[in-house]
This record gives sequence, C-alpha cells and structure tokens, in this order.
Amino acid sequence: MPKVLYKTSEEIELIRKSSLLVSKTLAEVAKLIKPGVKTIELNKLAETYIRDNGGVPAFLNYNGFPYSLCISPNDQVVHGFPGEFELKEGDIISVDCGVILNKFFGDSAYTFAVGEIGEETRKLLNITKECLAKGIEKAVVGLRVGDISYAVQEHAEKHGYGVVKELVGHGVGFKLHEKPEVPNYGKRGSGMKLEEGMVLAIEPMINAGKAAIKFWKDGWTVSTKDNKPSAHFEHTVAVRKGSADVLSTFEYIEEVLR
Ligand code: MG
Ligand code: MG
Repeated sequence: MPKVLYKTSEEIELIRKSSLLVSKTLAEVAKLIKPGVKTIELNKLAETYIRDNGGVPAFLNYNGFPYSLCISPNDQVVHGFPGEFELKEGDIISVDCGVILNKFFGDSAYTFAVGEIGEETRKLLNITKECLAKGIEKAVVGLRVGDISYAVQEHAEKHGYGVVKELVGHGVGFKLHEKPEVPNYGKRGSGMKLEEGMVLAIEPMINAGKAAIKFWKDGWTVSTKDNKPSAHFEHTVAVRKGSADVLSTFEYIEEVLR
C-alpha cells in the first residue's frame, strides 16, 4: 500500500503556487461562463491559460482522460467531458481543474451558476461550499481524517442532501492522487491521524436528491441516479497546527462573479 508522502514547508510553498494557478485558471473560466457558451470553449481557455503561465494541465491524459478540465453540468457529479454542451440560463456547472507547475500538483473545483438559478439550486451550492469549509476546519494536526469526513457529511445530511460515497478527496502534491483517501462521510475520531506535512484535496460532492450515482459508459462521467443536480467544491489544503492552510483560493473567482 502506498504511504502518505509528507511535504516540507518549501514543498508546500511550491504546491501553493500550483494551487494558485488553478485558482486563477478557474477565475478565467468564470469570466466566460454565460448562456450560449459551449463547455469545450472553457476547456480550451483553461488549457491555454495554464500553459501560458508555465504549467501543464494535470488532468490531460491522466489515466487517459482526454481534456484539461472536468466539466460536469447539472446532474453530472464529476469527471464530465467538455464538449458541445451549450450552457443555458439556470444551469449549474462544476468545473474541476488541476495543474502541474515546477513538478508540483494543485487541485481545486468550483460549481458555477449560469445566469440566474433557482432558489433550491442556489441553496445546494451554498451548502456544498459550507461543507468544504467545515471539512477544512478539521484539517488540523491532532485530528483524524474521519473528523473531516464527519464534518462534511453531517452538514450535508442535516439539509437533506445525498453525500456521494464512491468518490473521495485525497492527498495531493507530488502526484495528483496520493494517500490518504479523504471520504466525505465517516466517523469522528476514525482514520489516519493528521500531521504536519500532509497536503489534502478536500472535495465534497453533494447531491440535491439521493446519494446514488451512475457511471457512464464513456468510462469517466458520473451523474446522479435520480437526475437531480449535484455540486462540487474543492480546495488543496495543508494540515497545520491550530488551523489549516488553504493553498488554493476562491477569491479570484468571486471577484469575477461579484
Ligand atoms: Mg479536483
Ligand atoms: Mg481532487
């Protein structure tokens, strides 16, 4: 079984640079999101922006994934293919981005509203983002992975949402996916102990309806079984004493959305 790969402070600073490039890329994508735009156009913009800034799209060719972004509209949970799908008013799209910069990986995701969205869908986005914040609060030395998992699950289920179980967060930094797995469900005080030097991608995937998902025949796309919408927010986070150090940021995105 692969071991946890601990990072030095210098390495964490490099992962921060990679993560900030992801954050800036998502902000560039945010500028383009409007009705009539095809998701493949968002992918093209992201790939160009990442390369122009000295990075490499981390998802492109990862286990054969053919694009630089995962773009998952509406009932798609994660790992959707950018393509001819045209955004329309009222849609939501989850955009997941990873980059390699100076050999280090950053990973972050944001679910965007296209124009005006319904009140219920807005609530799903807000609660999912809160789930991420609750998980991050627990990414501190002395707690355990299960404390993050429990915090995410508890907040989502309190609002009647379904927590996706089959896909999980993960260690990140030297590779896109490292140990430990960080599930969005679990028991307090369970799992691996959190220590200085751990860098985690925390990424709640929360369904408006039931938790059940289906895997598409394309080998990648995941959607909700009941076809209700799903949201996904993700940050790359360094475990620290006292409070977590969030290496990616939504600030650039939210400046665009303001
Ligand atoms: Mg991601
Ligand atoms: Mg991830």
